[in-house]
Amino acid sequence: MQVYGLLGNPVSHSLSPPMHEAAYETLDIDARYVTFEPDPEALEAAIGGADALGIAGLNVTVPFKEAACESSLVAVDDVAARIGAVNTIDFAGTPTGHNTDAAGALRALDEHDIAVSGARAVVVGAGGAGRAIAFGLADGGADVAVANRTASRAHDLADDVPGAGGYGLEAVPTLLEGADLLVNATSVGMEEDVSPVAAEALHGDLAVMDAVYRPLETRLLREAAASGATTIDGAWMLLYQGVEAFELWTGREAPVEAMNAALRGRLRADSTNPL
Ligand code: NAP
Repeated sequence: MQVYGLLGNPVSHSLSPPMHEAAYETLDIDARYVTFEPDPEALEAAIGGADALGIAGLNVTVPFKEAACESSLVAVDDVAARIGAVNTIDFAGTPTGHNTDAAGALRALDEHDIAVSGARAVVVGAGGAGRAIAFGLADGGADVAVANRTASRAHDLADDVPGAGGYGLEAVPTLLEGADLLVNATSVGMEEDVSPVAAEALHGDLAVMDAVYRPLETRLLREAAASGATTIDGAWMLLYQGVEAFELWTGREAPVEAMNAALRGRLRADSTNPL
């Protein structure tokens, strides 16, 4: 039996176990997906221990993604190195570190037939998700503007992303006037029914993707739909980062429908039994 898992803290409400185990069941793979919560200072020991135990692959989440990128035990690929965060470790041979959030965001857009190459994209948020999404969109050929509450973080991120510009949140309505794509990569909309973008700035020529997946229907997405925009909820990016990790680990095409059904089933169950 192969063991895969997730390193993070906390991880008790993670959606990755049902999503990956649905894939194993569908493809008849003898594997389990387990969550681990090491102490923050024990990350290196946890990675070394996982390798020694023969664990096949680990996802990495908050607060370990950046530290995993610095780990002396992990050979980090170019995409993860540029983002500065590892969310997937493959233990086949020398452990390798990858970031599937960027590709996950691109595949979520592709699933909805949203063209990225040549698109004018506005990413709101410059934290971990914002970094991965901004790099992914730029690599996909988009013209990227990053806006963040703390404008200096947007400037720093824009300095790293080819061709990108960095702004404070006050610039968002103007940036959206000529934009094709808006991505919310802040946590705004999770705890309260608020949106990081004024409803009046949204319009029908936009595709709007939210990284927030709890709740699935955020205020931003409701207001975007009302403005005539195409909307893509946060579960799509979550699904495709998992699909990318599964394919990297197993070398097999992921059963996307089964993983999506498991993920959305768990999200629905959680929304009727709040965490
Ligand atoms: P993070 O690194 O902590 O960054 C948080 C971001 O939200 C920063 O840009 C922060 O701005 C901004 N922010 C927080 N509170 C705000 C407020 N009240 N007003 C305006 N901006 C605010 O978090 P993260 O890891 O990037 O995650 C961000 C969101 O994406 C979370 O909801 C997370 O669950 C989600 N996410 C989803 C996926 C997916 O696959 N769907 C993957 C990763 C993350 P400052 O810099 O000014 O603090």
